Amino acid sequence: MRLFKCQACEQATYFENRSCGSCGVALGYLPITGELAALEPQGDHFVALTRKRPLVRYCENIGFDACNWLIAADQGSKFCLACRHNHTIPDLSISENLFRWQQMEIAKHRLFYTLIALKLPLRNLTDDPEHGLAFDFPIDDPEQSTILTGHDAGLITINLNEADDAYREKLRNSMGEPYRTLLGHFRHEVGHYFWDHLVRDAGRLQKCRAVFGDERQDYAAALERHYARGAPPDWQGNFISAYATAHPWEDFAETWAHYLHIVDTLETASTFGLRIHPMATKNKALHADLDFDPHHAASANALVDAWLPLTFALNNLNRSMGYSDLYPFTLSQPVVTKMQFIHEIIHASQIERKAPGRRRGFFRRSQAPGPDIPPEQPPIVEPPTDPLPDRPPVELPPGPDESPPPIPNEVPPQVQMGVG
Ligand SMILES: [Zn+2]
Ligand SMILES: [Zn+2]
Ligand SMILES: [Zn+2]
Repeated sequence: MRLFKCQACEQATYFENRSCGSCGVALGYLPITGELAALEPQGDHFVALTRKRPLVRYCENIGFDACNWLIAADQGSKFCLACRHNHTIPDLSISENLFRWQQMEIAKHRLFYTLIALKLPLRNLTDDPEHGLAFDFPIDDPEQSTILTGHDAGLITINLNEADDAYREKLRNSMGEPYRTLLGHFRHEVGHYFWDHLVRDAGRLQKCRAVFGDERQDYAAALERHYARGAPPDWQGNFISAYATAHPWEDFAETWAHYLHIVDTLETASTFGLRIHPMATKNKALHADLDFDPHHAASANALVDAWLPLTFALNNLNRSMGYSDLYPFTLSQPVVTKMQFIHEIIHASQIERKAPGRRRGFFRRSQAPGPDIPPEQPPIVEPPTDPLPDRPPVELPPGPDESPPPIPNEVPPQVQMGVG
């Protein structure tokens, strides 16, 4: 993600800020242009300091401190491009739920930032009741979890308890996972959604099977087997995570999530002008100038070439602070090949939808690559007012504590990549 600055006073700000900590001006995110706009009030609405038009207003969810995105003042919907996809929000009469939902929305808005920057097609249930993307955030008793995080035909369900650090960490430990975050859940589940549309519905099933395996094998039985027996001992040679071994759909969603992890974190590194040049080694695989826009990378290999030096540096920084590795994964060549498939279908989707090539830059590209204007204006429609019937998510509940323990990333990445 880019580093934003206050357009009034130049103070650096976070993506989530709704006012400048230095000069106090109101801030809001304009997803169409990728600006965190400084705002001046005009009547009941605002104008962006740098644009003067159109008149804008905040998404309705600013009332819950759950969103700082802007919409055109004359737009019919009360909700922004990201919040328009909410199907059911949590019961806010329960006091703890507001904070949990706000954590969900922080992660969800960061997801949408990347989906927009990658020009992925975004349809909500009102635009397209059959193929729209929607989110439910239900909650259950943390002692006996019955709400399953998962995806079913466009409806993504994330158990609101996952926003509770202690709950999530307990699950992470019991499942032997090296990494479990809200943002990771969003990136994984949306991978299932885009498999439906960029693979199954786009005539790419054969190609996908050649890379990820045949998804026609029984999904429920495959997950049951995974939770009973765990991943095969040599899984790291071919998969990004133990869970990815469960079924080709999970392999795709896990790899998709990592593609988004890498693109977004590389953009953050690039926007800070990071250069990785370790003095201890001349090994070129550990050196990188992170000065390109990862949303427009030529290939998955180009991303990985920059990613390995960055994660080696970041893992070492974390260890210096007594934390576990920031990126506790290894990228084998078969995993990079899977990422290349995902890279290709994302970029093919941009071409197929005839995205305009013009880039509206607010920063010099080499310093702070930003999201392009989405090729299609987000639809100006109201979200559904009547809740749709509940649909059960398809993933199984967290399994018993039988997954193999995580294998720490103990060796420098160039060894794992075979380039050392
Ligand atoms: Zn300011
Ligand atoms: Zn919103
Ligand atoms: Zn999944």
